[in-house]
Amino acid sequence: MLQISRNLQTKLSQIGINNLDELMAIGYLEAFSRLRLILSGISFKELFLLYSLVNQIEYQKLSEDLKSVLIEEFRQLPPRHKPLAVETINKYLMIAEELAYQAKDVGEIPIGALIVENDQIIGKGFNQTRSHNDILAHAEIEAIREAQKFKQNFRLNNCDLYVTIEPCLMCSGAIINSRIRRLVFGAREPKTGACVSQFQSFNNIEVNHHCEVIGPVDQNKYSQLLTDFFRNKLPTI
Ligand SMILES: [Zn+2]
Repeated sequence: MLQISRNLQTKLSQIGINNLDELMAIGYLEAFSRLRLILSGISFKELFLLYSLVNQIEYQKLSEDLKSVLIEEFRQLPPRHKPLAVETINKYLMIAEELAYQAKDVGEIPIGALIVENDQIIGKGFNQTRSHNDILAHAEIEAIREAQKFKQNFRLNNCDLYVTIEPCLMCSGAIINSRIRRLVFGAREPKTGACVSQFQSFNNIEVNHHCEVIGPVDQNKYSQLLTDFFRNKLPTI
């Protein structure tokens, strides 16, 4: 019976796996994903080791073809990053909501967005399509433009985007293309939402292997401003 080496067991203990039975119950892919999340220096060698243990096949007997299959299997998993604290999510969504109010104050559809890198806000935006006569001027695009300028780079790896309302198809494309690490949205948008509602833009692993999506965080809370905005626009009798 193959046993876990001391070196690997030290690593596995940090993700709550204390013996072979527990590893088998969790599975090699899930265990490997968790290791990658919390430890640096984890390579595919650990994936192969975990596979050999779970399936009780000696590491040396794993073929190159099988290793390629295992790597592909891991790449097909949805993106996953270090978990965000609920306090962090709420803190930044509240700031995004303040930005949405700025849009409302100038008669724009009230949506706000911001981009965070290492707990620092590097881009902010609110919807300004009417005042700029620019259909591209959605809150997310404005925030992305500001963050790209700040970083002097069109790639926003390691950045998280917070937005009050589920992004549309255009913004989802911009989020994927700018390689934003994580998208957090407050409420679903049933008519134009392109994350979960009308389209599931982030589900295609071929085009999106980096952006994790969290949301809707609180449908009632974050849809309220938008609902009120459109209700107030209805003609009164
Ligand atoms: Zn949009």
